[in-house]
Amino acid sequence: MYICLDFIQMKDLVREARRLRLDFPILEKLHPSGHPLIYLDNAATAQKPRAVLSALHQFLSEFNANIHRGIHWLSQKATALYEGARESVAEFIGAASAEEIVFVRGATEGINLIANGLKRVHFQPGGEILLTQAEHHANIVPWQLIAEEIPIRLRPIPLQSDGSFDWEAFYQALTPQTQLIALTAMSNVLGTEIPIPDIAQVARTRGIPLLVDACQAVVHRPIEVKAWGVDFLVFSGHKLYGPTGIGVVYMRRPWGDIFPPYQGGGDMIRQVSWTRTSFAPPPAKFEAGTPAIAEAVALAEAIKYLQRTVGWDFIQAYESYLTDYAEEQLCSIPNLKLYGTARPRGCLWSFTLEDIHPHDVGTFLDQAGIAVRVGHHCAQPLMDFLQVPATIRASFAFYNLPEEIDRLVLALKESVKFFSKIEGEVKLS
Ligand code: PMP
Repeated sequence: MYICLDFIQMKDLVREARRLRLDFPILEKLHPSGHPLIYLDNAATAQKPRAVLSALHQFLSEFNANIHRGIHWLSQKATALYEGARESVAEFIGAASAEEIVFVRGATEGINLIANGLKRVHFQPGGEILLTQAEHHANIVPWQLIAEEIPIRLRPIPLQSDGSFDWEAFYQALTPQTQLIALTAMSNVLGTEIPIPDIAQVARTRGIPLLVDACQAVVHRPIEVKAWGVDFLVFSGHKLYGPTGIGVVYMRRPWGDIFPPYQGGGDMIRQVSWTRTSFAPPPAKFEAGTPAIAEAVALAEAIKYLQRTVGWDFIQAYESYLTDYAEEQLCSIPNLKLYGTARPRGCLWSFTLEDIHPHDVGTFLDQAGIAVRVGHHCAQPLMDFLQVPATIRASFAFYNLPEEIDRLVLALKESVKFFSKIEGEVKLS
């Protein structure tokens, strides 16, 4: 009875995914090889639903004007839409107010902005930044640049062999020198989740600021910045089914008041003279120049689509099913090694095939119309930790279907045959 119910639920979930998939015009495309396009590179960037495409088109064709400084109707309309988008983001991640949300180009710019602020008002010589071994370069290099100016050091915490967070290593690395904890909430390579709410509690008790890179997590899990008590959080709109060129920084109060501006220019000032300039309060203080207005409005539409049309309940139930299904199918391939199998996790798998370079596999899959990512995934220190030069990563969204996983697995099996045949021929010649 239980199994039967599960089966029915699973069928309902797949039916719903099929329905939602129709909202994404690009998924109807054929690959130049004539195969249907199978898009399994969602962790790099997600596809955009019609609602987002229409929001961009509608803004640019009906409401386009520069914001904040215009007194005419169109400018006021554009300003209201842009500031409305800020409200939507604040509500989406559970911020106390929209003033804590700064729009930037993406997570990378966001972390650089925060690094610049912390350099100016927080870091002291001898300080340490705790990170995991699984950080994206965007959460490594900005701190290394700061370390060239202030003598601070990065202290990566090793992960457990299954990719889960190592509490013992964390507590060992936590010292009076720890001046920042900066962690990804979900590894973009392993997919494993980092227990941010629990870490936030430790950070709060010790008075250490906590920065969360939510680029991957925000797509798969609800975020509650205020309830968790994090200081900073960043994510990019393009992974959340929104446009490129727009990202979000959450800065808990009073960080926005304490930080000096990141860049100077129009819109971030209160008063400018040749001798003295005073700045606008946050978030305007951190948004110099004309921002990505249409993109912010379209990001709000992506959030609305995710919350109202798709819904977290569906995302979590269906993605958990897809994750398990993909694991089971991938494990049926001889000599395939998965990296980081711990739960809870996002909907992606990184793996290698023995004796075949991931780039060769990626090219082979592309010929079959299957888009996966191969390489170091902007996480070279993690590759060193895993002792591989690269992995193959298949990352899924709620619009992916089990038959796409079947196609992936079939093509992987064919690639194994193909490359072992070539190797055999090379050995013979
Ligand atoms: N952090 C993580 C975990 C990511 O996956 C990415 C994108 N791959 C980034 C940061 C950087 O995002 P962006 O390139 O959009 O700034």
